[in-house]
Amino acid sequence: MSCKPARLRFPDDEQRQPWLALLLEIQFICNQGVEHAIALDGRRLACARGCASCCSSHADIPVYPLELMGISWYLLEKLEGDAGAEVRERVRRQMARHRDLGACPFLVDAACAIHPLRPMACRQFNVFTTVCLPGEDAYHSRRGDVLTPDAKRKDTALSEMLRHHGVKDGSERRRLVASGEVHRLAQSLREMRWEALAARMGAAQVQNDISQEAT
Ligand code: SF4
Ligand code: SF4
Repeated sequence: MSCKPARLRFPDDEQRQPWLALLLEIQFICNQGVEHAIALDGRRLACARGCASCCSSHADIPVYPLELMGISWYLLEKLEGDAGAEVRERVRRQMARHRDLGACPFLVDAACAIHPLRPMACRQFNVFTTVCLPGEDAYHSRRGDVLTPDAKRKDTALSEMLRHHGVKDGSERRRLVASGEVHRLAQSLREMRWEALAARMGAAQVQNDISQEAT
């Protein structure tokens, strides 16, 4: 069963940080592309909350600079309010030692702690019919069960993202998407220096504790 995607809204944050409004718009387009493809296919989606072996088995998840800004913002400013202090602390610790984890540092109790801001690659990877076996990458084991997102919306999302990199001309953006050059902007999620951000999360927490003690 699928439901119509809604665009996430953080009005105050978006007003202060226009890049966030652009990112949320891009995610919305991406979600629409996924929902459209699911409806078109007609099969039952196996992906569901609590099913997350893909978050361990997929070592190479591309993430773009604008997405990284969104993830950092969410971790520093929203995660605790959405998921609670305990989840925030678990994520912080996982980020600090993520190179030893063998899984995405944002995976907590078989759920994505940054779900509202997760990368496009995670949004678009969906599997039909049966859940993946532990360690299975369905893209290789049964490509026919892996969703192919709506190409037009996927390309539009990437094209819009290029605005963040100062590419204003629409035909140039389309060229960069069609040629695949846009993907050079992506880095591997697992290879990021999450430990540096974990340190910032820890410092922000200390500052917060001091402020609370002072009031
Ligand atoms: S891709 Fe596979 S492991 Fe991941 S949520 Fe979907 S069915 Fe589960
Ligand atoms: S960002 Fe979230 S959905 Fe993507 S691999 Fe990590 S835990 Fe899974």
